[in-house]
Amino acid sequence: MSEHANAPAGAGEPACAPRTPFSFELYPPRSAAAAAALPATIDRLAAVDPDFVSVTYGASGSSRTSSLEVLRYILDHTSVNPMAHLTCVGSSHVEANRLIRQFLDAGITSFLAVRGDPPAGVAEGESVLGDLHSAAELVQLIHRVQAERVPYEEVAVPGLPFAREVKTERHRVRIAVAAFPNGHPRSRSASQDIDTLLAKQAAGANLAITQLFFHPEDYLRFVQHAKAAGVEFPILPGIMPVTSPARLKRMLELSGEDLPSDLAIRLEIEPTERGQREIGIEWAIDVANQLIAGGAPGLHLYTFNQHEAVLSVLDGCGLLPVPGIITEKEPA
Ligand code: FAD
Repeated sequence: MSEHANAPAGAGEPACAPRTPFSFELYPPRSAAAAAALPATIDRLAAVDPDFVSVTYGASGSSRTSSLEVLRYILDHTSVNPMAHLTCVGSSHVEANRLIRQFLDAGITSFLAVRGDPPAGVAEGESVLGDLHSAAELVQLIHRVQAERVPYEEVAVPGLPFAREVKTERHRVRIAVAAFPNGHPRSRSASQDIDTLLAKQAAGANLAITQLFFHPEDYLRFVQHAKAAGVEFPILPGIMPVTSPARLKRMLELSGEDLPSDLAIRLEIEPTERGQREIGIEWAIDVANQLIAGGAPGLHLYTFNQHEAVLSVLDGCGLLPVPGIITEKEPA
């Protein structure tokens, strides 16, 4: 997080108050055309100075190469901090160790450690889950691999010509984890979701990003409960502009949330794509403003690999460094 990450922002702030930080999520492209379009999207997102850009990772490891390619592009062509999602479901200790090392070797120092879901149709069980059974164990492993790969180094001790000091300092890695304001679909109770978050904190996570949700009060209530239970790291709300009925359907599939009938009806009765898009952006601006006013430490925007809608949301919230800099069309 930037140094502003914990500073609540909201209505009534002085004009010089720090800008609410924001970040974006991308996924690795799934076709040659999407791969060709993605660099332009990344450039547009990077131009507005996000705190970080995260890149998702296929639970089966299917996207290892393509995720890493996107992360490398961000590292090599922008000044933005890339965050690698990593999953551990189905991996052995050795495989997970190798994966983490590969990403650290590529220069990645920010991770979003998630467990991942077993393949569709496969029931959860010890053999399916692999050696690491939870995201908290993956957080621990990332810290361990990072500590192990620090090269041995000694330095001279000033004033003691024959003494050598062994350097034990290591670079700090940022490890984010997932949080579920309305509960993980498999969680038995709200307290289990908070306990899971506390376990991730104990394992060394220092940031959480939430699953999509529709109502700001769900996030604000969850954060209040988490803080009361002892969660100290910032919890970033995940937001997605729902710009079409199809996007809404996809969002419901991803999040398992209940259908928000008011938004669904507005999108369904609007006949034009342009009108639907405006409804989705307006709705996201409203949600984002309520979150900021409620003390959210930043905004994490799910982009669906398109820059225009998320930049319009940030513009509407007055968060872009140069207001109204969205001029180009989305890549097809
Ligand atoms: P965990 O924290 O391990 O928890 C999973 C469930 O198990 C929870 O219900 C928890 O309460 C329960 N649980 C954990 N430990 C115990 C225990 N000891 N006893 C009992 N119950 C327990 N998936 C991907 O495949 N790739 C991605 O890139 C990706 N990115 C994501 C980004 C965000 C911001 C979010 C919110 C989700 C993302 N996911 C991704 C989805 C995620 O992998 C799934 O939601 C998965 O089911 C849970 O992951 P987790 O990290 O929350 O798991």
